[in-house]
Order: sequence, then C-alpha cells, then structure tokens
Amino acid sequence: MAANLLQKRWGSAGTIITLIESRDIGIIGVGEGSTPQLKAFFDELGIAEAEWMPRCNATYKAGIEFAGWSDRPGYERYFHPFATAVDPFTEPTFFTATALRRRGGDVPAHPDPYFLATRIAREGRAPLAPANFPFDIGYGYHFDAYLVGATLRDFAVASGVRHETATIAEVSLDESGDIASLRSDDGRTFAADLYLDASGFRATLIEGALKEPHRGFGENLFNDSAVVTPTPLPAAGARAMTSATAASAGWIWHIPLTSRAGNGYVYSSRYLDRDDAAAELRRHCGLAEDAEVRHLSMKCGRAERSWVRNCLAIGLAQGFLEPLEATALHIVLATVKGFTAAWEQDDRDGFNAAIARRYEGIRDYIVCHYRTAQRRDTDYWRDATSHDRLSDSLKQLITTWFTGGDLEAEVHRQEIAAYYAPMSWHVMLAGYGNFPPDERARPLPASPVDLDAVERFVHGCALNFPTHAEALSRLSAA
Ligand SMILES: Cc1cc2nc3c(=O)[nH]c(=O)nc-3n(C[C@H](O)[C@H](O)[C@H](O)COP(=O)(O)OP(=O)(O)OC[C@H]3O[C@@H](n4cnc5c(N)ncnc54)[C@H](O)[C@@H]3O)c2cc1C
Repeated sequence: MAANLLQKRWGSAGTIITLIESRDIGIIGVGEGSTPQLKAFFDELGIAEAEWMPRCNATYKAGIEFAGWSDRPGYERYFHPFATAVDPFTEPTFFTATALRRRGGDVPAHPDPYFLATRIAREGRAPLAPANFPFDIGYGYHFDAYLVGATLRDFAVASGVRHETATIAEVSLDESGDIASLRSDDGRTFAADLYLDASGFRATLIEGALKEPHRGFGENLFNDSAVVTPTPLPAAGARAMTSATAASAGWIWHIPLTSRAGNGYVYSSRYLDRDDAAAELRRHCGLAEDAEVRHLSMKCGRAERSWVRNCLAIGLAQGFLEPLEATALHIVLATVKGFTAAWEQDDRDGFNAAIARRYEGIRDYIVCHYRTAQRRDTDYWRDATSHDRLSDSLKQLITTWFTGGDLEAEVHRQEIAAYYAPMSWHVMLAGYGNFPPDERARPLPASPVDLDAVERFVHGCALNFPTHAEALSRLSAA
C-alpha cells in the first residue's frame, strides 16, 4: 500500500522506490476486513473493483455485527454500520431516542432499526447504490490478505516500483545515527534517503536499529493472542458484514470471502491457554476437535514515534490495536498520507503527534467496547468491564452518556470525531443496552420518536440495493 501511494505521489518527480520482501519470512497473512478508507485507496490509485476484488476473493462489507457482548434482554446483538449519506434522515431521531432512554423514558433506542447499512447487511444485500439512488454509501471490503498483498505488489511494480526479494540481516547507521544502508543475508547492500519499516511485528528498523521505544496498550486492552482457522462458506452465502462474537476470554471474528470464511479468536493469554482457545474456536465454528488451527501472538501498542530520523514505521512495525474494528489498514493509509504532507512541509513533530492521537483515539473506542459491554460471566469479562484505567477523554465520554448529557457535542468538543463519529459512539453505547433498567422506564405522553416511520423509510431505501450475490457475480462477469 505504501509503495503504491508513494509511487503515485513522488514517482513522477523521479523518486525511486524499492520494495523489499523476504521469501523466508513471509507475511502475517491475517487481516481480512477493512474500513471504507480502503475503497478511497483503490479509487485514488485508479484500480477498479472488477480488477482486484475477484482476484482477491473479496466481498463487500457494510459494517460489523457484535453478538454476545451484552446479556441484557433485547441487546444480545447490534450492528455498527458504516456511515451513509442517508443517515442524516434517521440519525437525529436515534440520538433523540437514546437521550430520552438514558433519562428514563420508554422509547425504542436499540440502534439497529435506524441505519440503512444495517438493513442492507442483514437482508443479504450489497452496499452498492444504483444510479437511481443518488446517496453515497460508505463501505469496506473483506479479502484474502495473501492475495491482496500479491495484487498490490503487482500493481506497484507495474507503476514503476522496483521489487527485490531479499532477507535483510544487518542495518548500518551513519555517524549521525541515521540509517545508512541495509545488508541482505546474501551480501547485497541497499542504500536510500528514506526507509519505510514495514517488517511486521519484528520492527527491524524502528525498534531493532533505531531503538525507538514501544508503548504497550496492555493495561486496558487485555488481548495478546489469536488463533485462526478457515471454514467453508455458509449455505446462505457471504453477507456484507463481519461478525464479532464475544467468547469466554475475548471475541471471535467471522469474515466471509467468496472462497471461504476466515475465523479467529482474539483472546488474552492471562485468562485462557492456547489449547483451550483453540478448542473454543473449533466449537464455535462447528469443527472437529482436531481441525487445524494457526496460533499467533499479537504485540499491541505503538512505536513512541512513527517517523524517526530517516525511517517511517508502517503497518505492524508501527503499531497494532486488536482488530475489533479492523482499523490497521486504515492507519496505514492515514500514516502514508500524513507523512507525505508532513515530509513536504518538514513537520515531523506535528506528524508524530497526530499519529499518536489517532492510535489513542481508536484505542479508546476499542476500550469502550469492553468497558461498557454488559457481560460478567467469566473473570475476563468481570475484569474487562470493571477496571478504571481509562483515558480522561474516555472517562468524560462515558460520564456524559450516563449522566444524560449531549454525547454528540462532547465528541466534537474533544475533536475526536475523525477517529469515531458521534454515530459510532451512540451505536456502541446503546447497542450494549447501557440504559436504566427497562422495568423502570417511564412512558412518555407524546414521544417524538416514530420508529414505524423510520423503519418504513429505511426499508424503502434498502429495496434499491442488489443482493450481495448479484453484486459479486456482476463483478466477476465484468
Ligand atoms: C490476529 C490479527 C487480525 C488482524 N485483522 C485485521 C483486520 O481485520 N483488518 C485490518 O486492517 N488489519 C488487521 N490486522 C492487521 C493486518 O494483518 C496488518 O496490518 C497487515 O497485514 C499488514 O501487515 P504488515 O505488512 O505490517 O506485516 P507483515 O504481513 O508481517 O509483513 C511483513 C513484511 O516484511 C518482510 N520482512 C520482515 N522482516 C524482513 C527482513 N529482515 N528482510 C526482508 N523482509 C522482511 C516480510 O517478508 C513481509 O513481507 C490483523 C492482525 C492480526 C495479528
């Protein structure tokens, strides 16, 4: 991704970009869901969906369904939709409903009926607006990570990026401490003005050679491990959504591709050992006790600074947040874009501060999932829902919600809407049923919330959209 973007931005000015990959080390091979920013990336490079999606077994994604995170009746699952240009017609009613419900009024405040993307995904449709429906519909993708890596490498090479297969064994620094060159295990030397460390969790340049400290997120995000396995596609075919289902010490993703589904259990090794995690994943997926699985360790946190001397860390070398909201590729894009602008304006400190804020902003949203989930059945969930190691920003957001305050204004006041918009915060907090108990809810004499009207509108909008299966077969035929 970085090679493609840099080539597009700087290639025509004569900058030579070389991509080095190691055959011996390989890629991590997970990371199969995206946010809508990946669409903007392909659009910017001028790569049509028909060119890359069939090649990468890709499907559309309208959002993420969270299941089993709350045991409050009626709130067992909810959907975090990607934003659409139709939301302004329903979102204000949803915000009003959640505010009234938080203050004890008996109004329908579960997020699902209010959002078009939710209905599109649940009805097995694709988030592709036809020409007669002139509203932008944000969407992301699911894809095979190996195939996307290879496809993007091929696009990069076709656009002029040089490609080398080599395993870097040594990094030389000059007398000032900058990286002077890299040496491969077969004796070749690679020298450049600028190095991007995209070496994965190894962080060979940023941490290994430049000794930039790593700031861990373990104190409020407990998960440090994953176990993954593929399954055949369900008979109903792929729906345009990721599922994130809570489990005894973490959560399990389900990501449908055109060829198979990817499944993974993200868990905390402090609460569950790897064999029990594998057994729980197999049971969840309906697999035999000896079905093959792959175990991974996750290094959660970020480099203190992403741009150090003549090195920019990117991807897993730069940092990693557990993939609950599938934000890693989105951060790659924000990093490359922010970096090229900062490089041209010589604003290293401003860039590093902005990236740190982005990580912390996304981290807080993920921490909020755990902190406000309504599940207490294991030590893991009792600890995750009760600790007080929250940033000041998150404390203020949660306090605003529970004291019946204006959460939308608070998100804007803190200038964090660029990481998660007010809609996302409302959807999560309402989706877990963070409201006064139902039995104490007071009927309102004249409720301003007409849920039937909202549902008729969302239903009517959804009728315009093709089924997911139709949309995928049109792509393959193109
Ligand atoms: C469990 C899990 C689930 C995830 N889910 C998501 C998700 O749903 N959505 C999302 O956006 N992201 C997700 N991610 C993150 C995503 O996988 C990564 O951001 C993405 O794959 C990019 O990885 P990378 O290129 O930084 O590292 P890697 O894939 O590890 O690639 C590292 C590269 O560096 C090369 N290399 C390493 N050392 C050397 C060396 N010495 N010499 C030469 N080359 C070297 C390797 O050959 C390889 O090409 C997930 C991650 C994990 C762990």
